[in-house]
Amino acid sequence: MSRFSNGKYSTLVPYTPGEQPQNRKYIKLNTNESPFPASGKAFDAAREELHRLQLYPDPDCTELCKTAAKELGVSENEIIFNNGSDETLNFAFMAFCDSEHGAVFPDITYGFYSVFAELNGVPYETKPLREDYTINADDYIGINKTVFIANPNAPTGIALPLSEIERIAASNPDNVVVIDEAYVDFGAQSAVSLTKKYDNLLVVQTFSKSRSLAGARLGFGVANPEIIKELNAIRFSTNPYNINRVTMAAGIGALRDTEYFERTKAQILKNRAYTVNGLKALGFEVLDSKTNFVFARTPKMSGLELYRILKEDKGILVRHFEKPRLSDFNRITIGAGYQMERLICEITNILK
Ligand code: PMP
Repeated sequence: MSRFSNGKYSTLVPYTPGEQPQNRKYIKLNTNESPFPASGKAFDAAREELHRLQLYPDPDCTELCKTAAKELGVSENEIIFNNGSDETLNFAFMAFCDSEHGAVFPDITYGFYSVFAELNGVPYETKPLREDYTINADDYIGINKTVFIANPNAPTGIALPLSEIERIAASNPDNVVVIDEAYVDFGAQSAVSLTKKYDNLLVVQTFSKSRSLAGARLGFGVANPEIIKELNAIRFSTNPYNINRVTMAAGIGALRDTEYFERTKAQILKNRAYTVNGLKALGFEVLDSKTNFVFARTPKMSGLELYRILKEDKGILVRHFEKPRLSDFNRITIGAGYQMERLICEITNILK
């Protein structure tokens, strides 16, 4: 801590992002990026926008909101764009929680929720996942806290049915229920349509996974206009230009290329099925993934050892969490076909 610090953040344990190695070329299956480049339409729109970099971007994200609203079947005032979904999530902690009104989320989930809670001085409670790593929706029924649920959950990849999300939203009419749908496009049911029915529901999505734009930083929230207005007040009070011109253009281009979106998504699902089958054939337990990653363990080796051998000897990077109930597992992003073939081949050799 510097001698100038106000001390407010002295105990903060920052979020640890997955490794982003800059020195060695790995088969990178550790941070759930898409193995495919952004759509050609996103590329073209972004390149064109480079001619206008001397000008500030549109703080209202008018065209982007219009395009996304049409795609999602909501109104433009029911959507807010942010610099990655992480920013939307932080704004939700800022807007709907405080030292009196805490948050609740599963004990095993996206690691940023507890960091955002600490950052904003928000007390939080965690609810344990069941033995089989599923979320028990009953834990969140009528709870007087702001609810944060990743659906599908991370790093398990397991999804809750929409009926369970609805039950949680309906039973907490005086609390905001935030559903983080970072991975929803890979097989879960989105709660976007429920935002019309429940004015306490905030659905958060990202362009980082299924839209191949992790490097552009683009995420959004969908909710009742009142919730969006409140989040926008925070956005305009921190950084009204949080979406830069190039990203905004790329986002619009990506949304307009439905064919590419569907095609790359289908390829990921195909590669996921291949990976799940390959791992199961090698004796792995693989949780039921509705995401672009799988969470898997083998009784033959510790999660940490497999992670280390894959990284150091085979040049394949996966994500390991050395934490209770997680340390047997590794989280493996679904990459391109040849990458998953290499992975299965190398794991076969390691286990021999
Ligand atoms: N939510 C979950 C569950 C995630 O795994 C991630 C990606 N690490 C995010 C949100 C954040 O995504 P981004 O900020 O790239 O939109």
